Amino acid sequence: MTHITIEPGAASVMDALHGAGHRAYVVGGCVRDSLLGKTPHDWDICTDATPRRVMEIFGEGRCIPTGMAHGTVTVKACGSLYEVTTFRTEGSYSDGRHPDSVAFIGEVEGDLARRDFTINAMAYGEKEGLIDPFGGREDLLCRRIVRAVGVPERRFEEDALRILRLFRFAAREGLNIDAATLSAALALSGGLRRVSAERIREELTGILLAPKPGGALPARVVGVFLPEAHALQARKHPRGGTAYDAMLRVLDASEPERMLRLAAFFLPLGEAGTTVEAMARRLRFDAQTVRTLCALAGEQALVPEQGEKALRVQARRCLGAMGLGQLETLAAYRGAQIACGEGAEPLDGLLRAARSEEAAGFPCRIRDLAVTGRDLMRDLGVAPGPQVGRLLETLLEAVIAETCENERGALLSFARRIRM
Ligand code: ATP
Ligand code: MG
Repeated sequence: MTHITIEPGAASVMDALHGAGHRAYVVGGCVRDSLLGKTPHDWDICTDATPRRVMEIFGEGRCIPTGMAHGTVTVKACGSLYEVTTFRTEGSYSDGRHPDSVAFIGEVEGDLARRDFTINAMAYGEKEGLIDPFGGREDLLCRRIVRAVGVPERRFEEDALRILRLFRFAAREGLNIDAATLSAALALSGGLRRVSAERIREELTGILLAPKPGGALPARVVGVFLPEAHALQARKHPRGGTAYDAMLRVLDASEPERMLRLAAFFLPLGEAGTTVEAMARRLRFDAQTVRTLCALAGEQALVPEQGEKALRVQARRCLGAMGLGQLETLAAYRGAQIACGEGAEPLDGLLRAARSEEAAGFPCRIRDLAVTGRDLMRDLGVAPGPQVGRLLETLLEAVIAETCENERGALLSFARRIRM
């Protein structure tokens, strides 16, 4: 019999439900991850107790009524939070996103049937062992496939987000996709048009963070929410295949780090006519991510200077313009491109120079200068206005290029000289 060691907090929630005469199981991702020998990141619990009953059993102080109408109460136990969801079935999905209604039921099997894939449709209880009516364990461990529960077409029509979830689980766990499930996903990918940008963004990011996302991003699917993918797919690549295939190769060759993978995905798409900014905004990425992607797109053609001093000066300019973190990302992206035979010069030397300038605390930004705008106005009589900023820029450039020391007296006399 399969044994799963349930986290103490989750076990205590189940004990309390059992003690009150109810059935309770851990379910979904935590069962899947446990069977894979991974530590689950969260433990979801399902029960025949209604949400109201769950609130009664644990008391309001330990409960957050997360989604009472859908049957979910979040319960605090042992310093962690557990989602406790009542067994339920779902009515029809007329909008292709949400069920029109849910109904609480008494049996776990009905609850497992509403779940997306067999590998996610398993429950486990200490007494009962694994409850696996759809063969999820065999799919996960023996056949190594992701397969829809029930008729795949129906399941993707109900909720098209499942199409992206399919590719995410396959890529993340290195699983194949069941043939019928795959053909339904491809055929029905147009349904993603009905899914919110936020949900698409989250799944897309999840796919991009898989060890090898390249096989999980068919242009036909991505093109539904980013038509730029079609444009890239139509473009021949000098080394064979399409420019879209080349993008996927570079993705697979890059480390699974969020900004790096986002850059390796969006920067090539940005060459298909739409700006990276417009695409990232369309998918409702946060402002910081949009800014970083724009900065990376703007610097993606960066060519390292020849010669030690020139490189050092360039490294300082890069630190001022984008910071070390972004330069690290750009250098890693360039490295992945080079590994895929894309002809561009490595940025490793520039990055090393930038690291050492950063470690030495070299002044690379206006705020690092030994004078301020106020000093320039007071000591030099510069009138307030944009000329103050311009003069500071010029001073910074002189410091970076080693034509002036970052020292108050030296900067003021340098400023005096260039204003004459
Ligand atoms: P992850 O490790 O990514 O969190 P997970 O399997 O826990 O994976 P969740 O999105 O947290 O995924 O969902 C928990 C469970 O709820 C899933 O295992 C699945 O059984 C079910 N589920 C989630 N989203 C859907 C969906 N769109 N359609 C059907 N079932 C779903
Ligand atoms: Mg989860």
